Amino acid sequence: MYILITNDDGIDAPGLLALKNAMQPLGKTIVIAPDRNWSAAGHTKTLHKPLRVDSTQLRDGSPAFSTDGAPTDCVALVMLGLIPEKPRLVVSGFNPAGNLAHDLTYSGTVAAAMEGAINHIPAIAFSLDAGNRAEIDFSSAVQVATHIARQILSAPLPPDTFLNVNIPNVPLDQMRGIRITRLGTRIYRDALVERADPAGRKYYWIGGDPPSGVLEEGTDIGAVAQNFVSITPVHLDMTSHALIDSLKTWEAQLDLSAPIIAAHPHQSQRSDYAGASTSRLKPTGG
Ligand code: MN
Repeated sequence: MYILITNDDGIDAPGLLALKNAMQPLGKTIVIAPDRNWSAAGHTKTLHKPLRVDSTQLRDGSPAFSTDGAPTDCVALVMLGLIPEKPRLVVSGFNPAGNLAHDLTYSGTVAAAMEGAINHIPAIAFSLDAGNRAEIDFSSAVQVATHIARQILSAPLPPDTFLNVNIPNVPLDQMRGIRITRLGTRIYRDALVERADPAGRKYYWIGGDPPSGVLEEGTDIGAVAQNFVSITPVHLDMTSHALIDSLKTWEAQLDLSAPIIAAHPHQSQRSDYAGASTSRLKPTGG
């Protein structure tokens, strides 16, 4: 049995090697990571192109696999038989920036852990709240990750759950402990940056400032802001259970005995010249 290690920042990311160092004391490890940066790729599953897997080495010379697939693919490849034996734990990280609150919906780091949970393997996403800085000291994060991974191995989680761990970017002696948290509220400060290419055509970047968040007691954002390690137990069930009862009224409101959309006069006309090349160029709806 081994611990599967992956990330969304790519095989050469320093955080990946740091996470491997954190798992090393707990037993055998296998590293498989994307060959490039997939940050903010979410729960991407590659279905329409082949996946290549290459043997490579991490910076310390230890063996690893790299793929041209997404973080999710790394876990899926293993679970689907790339390695005959299933892992006892899937860990993803260290992401060099926090994955807090709504970030979970974008994060490739978290998606890899999610893929572990979908495959009934205990899983943890590890992020260091270091704002993607260039030179990051992962040494305290390594200590924390070893501790948390040891915990989950001795006390497995219920099905369909995994842990999202965010570690404050401070030395170990400045950390204040662990807080079990709920997801907070991110404040995105994205801004659209419009440029022109050499031919004068517009293109866009999603730019702006890094996200901030609502400092709220009990949340992941609140905990990390106060130098606590945040552990959020995450469930794969994204249902808004609170809304089910109030939306039940919709069930009786659908009358299938009559057309829902009245026939539009233009619709019948359009069928006369459907297929003509000009009709395809016209905007729909008129
Ligand atoms: Mn990343």
